[in-house]
Amino acid sequence: MADDGSESAIERYKRLRAERLAGPTTWVDPAPPLAQDGLWRGLTREGEMRLLVARASVTARAITARLACSDDTARIAGELATAALLVRSTLNPEAQVQVSILNTGSAGRLLADVWAGEAGLRVSIARPEARASKDGPLLGGGLMQVSRSRAGREPYVSSTNFLESGIETSMMEYLLHSEQILSLLRVEVAVQDGVATDAVGFLVQAMPEGSRADLERLVRNLEALDPLRDAMTESDPDARAWAGRLLDGFRWDQVAREQVSFACRCSRERVLALLAGLPREDIEDMVRRGEPAETTCEFCRAVYRVATPDLTGLLSPGH
Ligand SMILES: [Zn+2]
Repeated sequence: MADDGSESAIERYKRLRAERLAGPTTWVDPAPPLAQDGLWRGLTREGEMRLLVARASVTARAITARLACSDDTARIAGELATAALLVRSTLNPEAQVQVSILNTGSAGRLLADVWAGEAGLRVSIARPEARASKDGPLLGGGLMQVSRSRAGREPYVSSTNFLESGIETSMMEYLLHSEQILSLLRVEVAVQDGVATDAVGFLVQAMPEGSRADLERLVRNLEALDPLRDAMTESDPDARAWAGRLLDGFRWDQVAREQVSFACRCSRERVLALLAGLPREDIEDMVRRGEPAETTCEFCRAVYRVATPDLTGLLSPGH
């Protein structure tokens, strides 16, 4: 204070900053009900840590039911859906992220596609019927490609190794090596009769402002933490109490929310466009045999049949 009791600009700034840092966590209200999938983001007030908490249970149920998964592949589909939802939100809040995993495991190639706007999420698995007990380990080493795209721009694709240890560790490696962000990712999936009934997860990222002591505190908090799945309840769908324990010792706020649901982007127009891209002889061959062309969407399993007259149409000028 100055001699006359008035507050200087610097004193005022310090006082306001201290008040802001000291207040309780603020929340973006209202929290959506458990039946609404999505994620929320939290940020510590001094910028040391970022937290994302996701629930993709309803979406994972729809994905795994459509793919007719085994219990084993349902777990993987739930993990990949939740991880892709979390990672998209850190990489590209406005647009689309696709994660493609080419690996030597018995489940074959995995693909997750998640986008903002109308907020959709879909997953495909090459061999959803695979079982570890019969077919061997579902996931093997390989390559993970992450593609980020925005309307009207070329996608940006980066590749990293896919590790046999699985989706969580491979994603953390990707975020560390491709994005230079130290991240901790956990996903929890429950499966019953080939359907992922619960799929939740969280991602904590250490921002450049964070110190080693901050990280150590976070790891200590994590050790004592209950599963996130048990913490998300009808009366606390955000798992606020759980998040308070995870970020115990930090001053922080919940800053944003996103919604997501299962959606597919396949359509008859896309199938026709794909057929139109085939060599002319192949289409002529299908017309000669008089058999409809049939294709099944790898994500939602919708079946598209293109009858001979439409195939003939693809051969006419203008195609
Ligand atoms: Zn589809």
